[in-house]
Amino acid sequence: MNHTAGRRFSPAAASALERIAEEVSVCMQCGTCAGSCPTAPAMDYTPRALMRLLQAGLFDEALRSRTIWMCTTCYTCTVRCPRDIHVTDILGRLRGIAIAEGYAETAGMTFNKAFLDVVRRYGRMFEPELLIRYHLRQEPLGILGAAPIGLALFQKGKISPLPERLPAEGLAQIRRIFEAVEARQKAAPAASSHA
Ligand code: SF4
Ligand code: SF4
Repeated sequence: MNHTAGRRFSPAAASALERIAEEVSVCMQCGTCAGSCPTAPAMDYTPRALMRLLQAGLFDEALRSRTIWMCTTCYTCTVRCPRDIHVTDILGRLRGIAIAEGYAETAGMTFNKAFLDVVRRYGRMFEPELLIRYHLRQEPLGILGAAPIGLALFQKGKISPLPERLPAEGLAQIRRIFEAVEARQKAAPAASSHA
């Protein structure tokens, strides 16, 4: 175990965090990422502020933040960063580290896991199952609140009551991608990006 800013991290996580700190050291705090981020209002730290935490070595705060789970991986921050910092991928790596280091499961982490489980199962999104998986793990009674929204979306033809599966070959490809990522995470648990 290594101590990094007050918290004990595994050697793999400590080394991955030091690499991230090195990558963000060139951030000039211009705020382009924060100004471009569609989910910044839902974050506790904007992407710019998160870069600052990482520069300061405040890894525990960064890993506890809601920010890493609110990212929709739209890549806007990454393509606009004047310092070519791969903000999106860094957030993904932080998610992987948070899981590998046993951080408490937050609503964002649950949603992320449920999303990936559904995509792995069907090769596509199936919103009703996503909501059920999320609420069963996070707040079972919340299903009651989500039901009217689901019904309204169904009536407008926005969601299907039955899942669409990719053809077998496409689904096999998706599952191979999951397996490749898992193998990579097993080899370097805290270094790989987590969608
Ligand atoms: S856009 Fe790039 S340089 Fe500017 S604050 Fe964000 S990460 Fe830093
Ligand atoms: S990739 Fe994530 S952090 Fe970057 S702009 Fe999109 S939602 Fe925001």
